[in-house]
Amino acid sequence: MQVYEAPLRDMAFVLNELHADDGFGDLEALSEFTPDLTGAILEEAAKVAQEVLLPLNRSGDIEGCTLENGVVRTPKGFKEAYDMFREGGWCALASDPEWGGQGLPEAVNKLTEEMICSANLSFSLYPGLTHGATTAIEGYASDELKQAYLPKMVSGEWSGTMCLTEPHCGTDLGMLRTKAVPQDDGSYKLTGAKIFISAGEHDLTENIVHLVLARMPDAPPGVKGISLFLVPKYLPKDDGTPGAANGVSVQAIEHKMGLKASATCQLNFEDSVGWLVGKPHKGMEAMFTMMNTERVSVGIQGLGVGEAAYQSAVWYAKDRVQGRSLSGVKNPDGPADPIIVHPDVRRMLMTMRAYNEGSRAIGAWVARALDAERYSSDPEVKARAQDFIALMTPVVKALFTDLGHEAAHLAVQVYGGHGYIAESGVEQFARDARIAMIYEGTNGIQALDLVGRKMPAHMGRYLRSFFHPVAAFVEANKEDADFAKMIEGLEKAFGALQLSTGTIAQKGMKDPEEAAAAATDYLRLIGLVAMGYTFAKAALIARAKLAEGAEDAAFYKAKITTARFFFDRLLPQATAAFLAIKSGKSSMMELEADAF
Ligand SMILES: Cc1cc2nc3c(=O)[nH]c(=O)nc-3n(C[C@H](O)[C@H](O)[C@H](O)COP(=O)(O)OP(=O)(O)OC[C@H]3O[C@@H](n4cnc5c(N)ncnc54)[C@H](O)[C@@H]3O)c2cc1C
Repeated sequence: MQVYEAPLRDMAFVLNELHADDGFGDLEALSEFTPDLTGAILEEAAKVAQEVLLPLNRSGDIEGCTLENGVVRTPKGFKEAYDMFREGGWCALASDPEWGGQGLPEAVNKLTEEMICSANLSFSLYPGLTHGATTAIEGYASDELKQAYLPKMVSGEWSGTMCLTEPHCGTDLGMLRTKAVPQDDGSYKLTGAKIFISAGEHDLTENIVHLVLARMPDAPPGVKGISLFLVPKYLPKDDGTPGAANGVSVQAIEHKMGLKASATCQLNFEDSVGWLVGKPHKGMEAMFTMMNTERVSVGIQGLGVGEAAYQSAVWYAKDRVQGRSLSGVKNPDGPADPIIVHPDVRRMLMTMRAYNEGSRAIGAWVARALDAERYSSDPEVKARAQDFIALMTPVVKALFTDLGHEAAHLAVQVYGGHGYIAESGVEQFARDARIAMIYEGTNGIQALDLVGRKMPAHMGRYLRSFFHPVAAFVEANKEDADFAKMIEGLEKAFGALQLSTGTIAQKGMKDPEEAAAAATDYLRLIGLVAMGYTFAKAALIARAKLAEGAEDAAFYKAKITTARFFFDRLLPQATAAFLAIKSGKSSMMELEADAF
């Protein structure tokens, strides 16, 4: 059974308690968002997720999207849910008030995104992509385009897409072929085929605004010749309402492993009118603005599914009775004990729990940096926030989606054979979560971005935005007797990370394949250290709260136990990652391709 109740207590913890001393400070521009107000917003978001979106998750998966006579229909109930979502202002939460948004802190917005993804990952893509598209338009489009499109998109009346992928090119966008021919009036006519376009066509909004990567006739080859264009499905009339169709048609919808209620479309552009966004041949720069926003959000998708999978597994582990507890019967009136008594089931539940809480803690830290980057009046804080975001974006994307997928598979395992049967609802989590490791740049590409671009940038300056707080924390808490094991574990893993950084930098300089061969392990290692740091901090805060006699002692005690589990059972993966990195590329690269 798909069970989900928004983890509001943990959300309040990461939002208000965990990162108070992270050096990004209290932001004057966001002072109106008090814990009371943000708590109320999160409670309302939880109702939308639990009461409106969750009930459509399984039915949407079963029904899927359909294409008939060029029209894509979303599953039953999606249109009504979208209208309700839009009218409630949920599409506009984090957008700039200048365009009708509510200017909510990202720290709160990312938590609402998590809830929406937990309740219904397919649904989350429709407003999610629109938000990414508005970010690129805000940053790079002309004032005229902003005025014409942003208010409608921010309100959710019109939705957005990102059209990069073509049949012959996904990761390597330098090969893309869609053409954009300049017209006398300053517009362009676009012709080409795109595949895998999320929300490329659907029945939720009256217009769809495509952000399309294409090549002008005089474009240099490769990624340096790609430009970005805004291409509406319907050209707006003078009064701003949708007018004539603009040559954008759906060839097919993709039949997928999961995410079935999200319309993934093959689109054809035929002499479609578009306008340049940003400078000619600099489309990747503008698209990266959108992709970076989206990458953090895709990480949150992994966490969202991981949380729903965890809660559904906990429910089942308490309900299903099999075998007896090894430490003595726990359910004497029943024929067997609930499976939650068994250590191996506990291993799975605690792993999911720790991954979710750890990811939420890191996500909230990055979201605070996003707010500091936007709103801080201190140039030093702003610069540090930018460095931290640059470093952590690939980590959030790849780590959270890897772990979300792992959590979804553990949920299936907790359900046993019933987990494999569609009726239980948990196999959907595993199918849905899988895509988040692939789109927005595969997780392998995220790892390459981390070691190839982020790690060496400005002589390691991005890394320092992370290394400094961890080093200071370890130093300040070295003598802590209660948590000696945790601090020692963190210090060791951090040491392994520092050594690995040196190894990769050194070997990578001589042979880039060495750095590439270490990339995925390095990303996992930095992720584990970040999680260790946030768990150790959380444990210290929880201990202080318990000493003060805090009301919700059960929450703080559980936080300490989950932190201990992370250090006992999950952080040891850091040693494995370190050893793998140290071993170098040779056994990976030695075989000739025809030996496979
Ligand atoms: C459901 C779904 C929704 C999607 N939504 C969108 C969307 O809205 N808009 C859009 O434009 N696209 C979308 N995509 C496309 C998605 O972003 C691509 O599938 C993804 O970027 C990978 O590209 P590819 O599939 O061509 O794989 P390829 O690029 O062919 O990669 C295949 C494998 O090779 C690896 N690889 C490739 N190059 C390298 C390299 N240089 N170094 C190391 N490893 C490498 C990859 O990591 C991967 O494991 C979607 C895809 C799906 C399935």
